[in-house]
Amino acid sequence: MADKPFYSQGLPFSCQRCSSCCRHDPGFVFLSEKDVNKLARALKMRYISFVETFCRWIPAGGGTEQLSLKELSNFDCVFWKEGCTVYESRPLQCRTFPFWHSIVASRDYWDIYKQDCPGIGRGPVRSMAEIDSCLAQRVLEPVITRKQKE
Ligand code: SF4
Repeated sequence: MADKPFYSQGLPFSCQRCSSCCRHDPGFVFLSEKDVNKLARALKMRYISFVETFCRWIPAGGGTEQLSLKELSNFDCVFWKEGCTVYESRPLQCRTFPFWHSIVASRDYWDIYKQDCPGIGRGPVRSMAEIDSCLAQRVLEPVITRKQKE
């Protein structure tokens, strides 16, 4: 039988609304097809106009690139303005934070992220089922990837 993950008893998390994961520092908010459809619908835009207006392609290795939201020159997310202006339709990456494979891979990674996010380790305990559901959704809704343009 496989070992239980370190979060088998759940992990505490409660967003403290510090907004540091949405602004100030360079970063990427990668998008799935579902994310783009949902955001375009919420903004009453066509899919392609949404991509051209709000997205950028990020080199992802192996001759591929992935779709991410743009950020402003001060590194704020393009949708940040005194809060997330697309909160109800925000991308899966935002909705599932901090229950990402890269963060819950081990107790050590979780503790490293705790230093940057005041919500990690605070508030109600999120169950293993909830954490696994976040991880599964990110597998089921992969980031849009294409062959890198010459
Ligand atoms: S889409 Fe909203 S929640 Fe996600 S990074 Fe941008 S401002 Fe933050």
